[in-house]
Amino acid sequence: MTEKLYDLDSHLREFSAKVISCEKDGERWAVVLDRTAFFPEGGGQAADSGELGGCRVLDVQEASGVIRHYLDAPLTAGEAVAGKLDWEKRFRRMQNHSGEHLLSGLVHAHYGYRNVGFHLGDGDVTVDFDGELTRPQLDELETEVNLAIAGNVPVTCWYPAKEELNALEYRSKLELTENVRLVKIEGYDLCACCAPHVSRTGEIGSMHILDFMRHRGGIRLRMLCGLDAVEDARARYQATLSISGLLSVPQLETPKAVRRVLGELEETKQALADARRQILQMKAAALPETTGNLCLFEPELDMLSLRELVNAGMEKTSGMCAAFSGKDGDWKYIIGSRSVDLRSLAKEINAAINGRGGGRPEMIQGSCTASRKEIEAYFGLKAPKAEKE
Ligand SMILES: [Zn+2]
Repeated sequence: MTEKLYDLDSHLREFSAKVISCEKDGERWAVVLDRTAFFPEGGGQAADSGELGGCRVLDVQEASGVIRHYLDAPLTAGEAVAGKLDWEKRFRRMQNHSGEHLLSGLVHAHYGYRNVGFHLGDGDVTVDFDGELTRPQLDELETEVNLAIAGNVPVTCWYPAKEELNALEYRSKLELTENVRLVKIEGYDLCACCAPHVSRTGEIGSMHILDFMRHRGGIRLRMLCGLDAVEDARARYQATLSISGLLSVPQLETPKAVRRVLGELEETKQALADARRQILQMKAAALPETTGNLCLFEPELDMLSLRELVNAGMEKTSGMCAAFSGKDGDWKYIIGSRSVDLRSLAKEINAAINGRGGGRPEMIQGSCTASRKEIEAYFGLKAPKAEKE
């Protein structure tokens, strides 16, 4: 059985070991060592990466008590090799994971909720609790966790004997009975967990709860600790800084300023829609009386306005009034007539203008992909003068 050096010293970044076996596994090689500082995936924490005997360690997995290091090149059984972890990556995970224990311990102590889901990705940590918490409650918890970090209390990990374990009250996701490893944060938490943690809470640096949402009768929150939290905060400051520059307001007043700008945008949209409607009414009033077909084109109209235009056009012609909104190759159309049975003509019209659609005898609507030229050619006249842009 491989000696778990990471259990004894979570800060061990380099070590030497003997290769017990090396087997080809697909594109990779699975190497078993007599001892290792590489943590295999577990407890919500990803496997360590790094170098081993000059090869890249791509993944580490423990199955049936055997820890396999998956490498990009083979090693020789019996040889002594040096291992080196991607330390910063591991340290960030230890910061996040230890911070999660503090938070989960405090949530359990104050509210009795259990941590029922934990995902520790790089720069992305989510925790699920089986009860709901509000933002003010989370703010209080965040402060309390950061006070625990500032308190720099010891974090210890050990495998208690059965009698000791039975006498202890600890948090655990699984009903484990054998080889239970406990992680104790002095004064805050006791939890079964196999992953490496920091030695004192001060190493966590800080903990930020980013956001949260309702999730399966409880909540799912996103949090970050230490270096990940600093990088995340930096990115947020930069985003706020650029918004504050664009709006020429102090950083903390950006939400108010954005609301104001969005309100103004809404008013402008409304005013533009009103103006378009007025222009449309003027255009409709200016349509010539004709016995031929009217063919009208508008760059951007909703179906309601397009229908109003067609209704106005139908008053001016004894033929068809066909109105199109959009651009060449992508039109919505409405065609109306007081004399022609459009329902029976729909097939022919759609074939001529590459369209699809239908409706009632006096009005049909749909879409088509013909060009304006092709449409005008079909309806047998140039668009009325008033419609030229
Ligand atoms: Zn854990």
